[in-house]
Amino acid sequence: MAKLPILVFPDERLRTKAVAVETVDDEVRQLVDDMLETMYDARGIGLAATQIDVHRRVVVMDVSDDNSQPLVMINPRYEPIGEEREPLSEGCLSIPEYYAEVPRYLKVKLTALDRHGEPYELEADGLLAHCIQHEYDHLEGVLFVDYLSPLKRDRVMKKMQKRYKQMNDA
Ligand SMILES: [Zn+2]
Repeated sequence: MAKLPILVFPDERLRTKAVAVETVDDEVRQLVDDMLETMYDARGIGLAATQIDVHRRVVVMDVSDDNSQPLVMINPRYEPIGEEREPLSEGCLSIPEYYAEVPRYLKVKLTALDRHGEPYELEADGLLAHCIQHEYDHLEGVLFVDYLSPLKRDRVMKKMQKRYKQMNDA
C-alpha cells in the first residue's frame, strides 16, 4: 500500500469531473487500498479519488470512531429520502483546518459497487448521509466551500494560499 499526496484547495485539479469505473479490477482495488491508507493517515472520515488527483469515481469512507468500518463506494449515486435537510459542521482533507456548516439531506439512499464490483444499496442518515453527499460532490468537482457566501469563500481561499506559501517558504 502507499500513502498518496492530497490536493489542497484552490488547486484547480479538484474541479475535475471524475469518470465512471468500467471494471473493478486489481488496479482499482489497489487504488482503494491506497486511498484507505491515505485517509486513515490523515485522520479523515472520507476521501474521493479526485483528492489524490485520480479522476475516477471511487470514494472511501469510515465514520466509525476506531477505523473499523471502511466503506468503499465505486460509481456511487444517491437519492434523498424525503426533503428534509440539516446543517452540520463540515471539514475536508483538501481544505485543512477549516470548518463550516453546510445543509445536506438528512437521509439518502446510496447505490454503489463494492471492492469486488458487486452492487449494493445502503440507507444512510446523520453523519454518514452527510459524508456521502460531500464525497459525491468531489467526484463532480464541487467543494463544500462552494455552498458558502462569496465573501466567506474568498476568505478561505486567502487563508489556504497563505498556508501554502508558508509551507513552501519553510
Ligand atoms: Zn472533502
